[in-house]
Amino acid sequence: MNTAQFFDEELEEVKRKNGYRFLRTRDFNESGKSTHALLDGREVILFGGNDYLGLSHHPKVIEAAVESIREFGVGSQAAQLIHGHTRDHLELEKRIAEFKETEAAIVFPSGYQSNMAAISTLVGKGDLVVMDKLNHASLIDACRLSGAEFRIFPHKNYERLCEILATYPTSGKKLIVTDSVFSMDGDLADLKILAQIKEKYGALLLVDEAHAIGVFGRRGSGLVEEQKAQDKVDIQVGTLSKAIGCQGGFIAGSQKIIDYFINFARPFIFSTGIAPHLCRAAKVAIELIESEVKLREKLLWNTFEVRKELVNDLHLDVGPSQSPIIPIMIGESERALQFSKGLLEEGIFIPAIRPPAVSPGESRLRLTISASHSKEDFKKLLLAIEKVKTLTLPSPLLRERGRGEG
Ligand code: PLP
Repeated sequence: MNTAQFFDEELEEVKRKNGYRFLRTRDFNESGKSTHALLDGREVILFGGNDYLGLSHHPKVIEAAVESIREFGVGSQAAQLIHGHTRDHLELEKRIAEFKETEAAIVFPSGYQSNMAAISTLVGKGDLVVMDKLNHASLIDACRLSGAEFRIFPHKNYERLCEILATYPTSGKKLIVTDSVFSMDGDLADLKILAQIKEKYGALLLVDEAHAIGVFGRRGSGLVEEQKAQDKVDIQVGTLSKAIGCQGGFIAGSQKIIDYFINFARPFIFSTGIAPHLCRAAKVAIELIESEVKLREKLLWNTFEVRKELVNDLHLDVGPSQSPIIPIMIGESERALQFSKGLLEEGIFIPAIRPPAVSPGESRLRLTISASHSKEDFKKLLLAIEKVKTLTLPSPLLRERGRGEG
């Protein structure tokens, strides 16, 4: 086969389906705010990131990173099992374990890598892994990598999950995997029910807290805390790159499970450790999540207000979202792209999410809220959406009332 022709054809095909992707370049602007930037040279307000509390730009977080760089340099020099495990790694692990109320934790260069390590190490040939249809791609990829029998249940259809667990013949391990906040729909798993199911069928329960940390729970540690499931969840995975505002990921659980990962998780053993300054910055960010309750309250209030206006005033469908992830449901990819492009011209950036990130026919704008957004930012957002929606959406998509709360 002519490989150049193969690449051309594949790229043409993806363009034809409105699925073509390209990189935009972000530059900082004078404001110094995490939500304001230059995108390909254009001044925009960002409504598509996951820096829910604006901690990526918090002076204490930045200072912690700089202080660590002065001591340890910019990289960790080696895999953690060689000498890439610094005092910053150790202190972050202890802080995460305390925060997540587990015995121990280990850290990784990304959340994606944490998920790869967690699932591919826990289960393998002869085991069963069952997951929610709307789980993040990293969890799906990890299940495929594991070699375990891999089954999917329809979104939050826990009856179907029980049927799969009851009828699948295996003497091996059974693992249930769920996001706690679903990354594209912004709705929540029911961890109490999942905990009962895992007990009944003798399974392990793994929960990805990526979008729940900094948002839910009295101390802001996530949905496991909010739904009081600390004693029921066997493995919690998370990322340092969303509300924590840094970069990296972690697995938290019992000391025995963490020791097992240190000995058997190939993505941990064969990769250079996360940089020490990211660990020190993340530790300070976690402390801020716990202490700055007002920041978390502001995030939830902003989210509530924007969702209400989108549904009640702009008559948009925001799905079942219960978190700062508010999808504006569009349907066709082409329309979602047009909508996003129209908003960009108004100085508002919200990415168009298309297959394969969501199912065909479910393209959307994935709007995310941050505590760093100001009232003025929201005013500009809502004005721009009002202007662009009439140009891009057919009237049936402008609902009398959306499905979200009013
Ligand atoms: N898990 C979920 C639910 C996510 O949404 C993401 C990132 O988008 C990840 C894991 C991966 O985390 P990271 O971006 O740190 O690799």
